[in-house]
Amino acid sequence: MTRSVIQDFVTSDHDHDSCIDAALARAQAVCRARGERLTPQRRQVLELVWRSHRPVKAYDLLERLSTSGRRAAPPTVYRALEFLREAGLVHRLESLNAFIGCPRPDIRHSAQFLICTRCGAVAEMDDASLTAKIDANARRLGFKVDDEKIEVNGTCRACRERDAAL
Ligand SMILES: [Zn+2]
Ligand SMILES: [Zn+2]
Ligand SMILES: [Zn+2]
Repeated sequence: MTRSVIQDFVTSDHDHDSCIDAALARAQAVCRARGERLTPQRRQVLELVWRSHRPVKAYDLLERLSTSGRRAAPPTVYRALEFLREAGLVHRLESLNAFIGCPRPDIRHSAQFLICTRCGAVAEMDDASLTAKIDANARRLGFKVDDEKIEVNGTCRACRERDAAL
């Protein structure tokens, strides 16, 4: 896997528990470095985002939280998501209005997402040359880029292989 691939499409046959454990450990480290606390609420929301490698919507998170006991208050969940997003622990996919965990919150990166419109799988890339190109083009127009994210729709390898097998 090249450096520009942050997260490949994930197949179902892997040890997902260790993905979650690693994500929580990284979150601890990121929060400590930022001088902030990974409160139980934030930790729980992050864990729920990481329950799968598919993007998850805020209201699905609310539902998951509510079934695990008392009803979760929407503002708490939104605040937790906002915290996680700012810390780089999750990304918000604008086209889906959904969130996905980032496996590399330790490095600053712009993100390019490949989104499978069939199964919802997402891969994340960080291609510096693409970012540089966008920056250069923007500069020519006197535009300063604050945040850059590219979302590309298509069909993932697994879905295409399934098609080919039919
Ligand atoms: Zn996993
Ligand atoms: Zn990321
Ligand atoms: Zn797919």
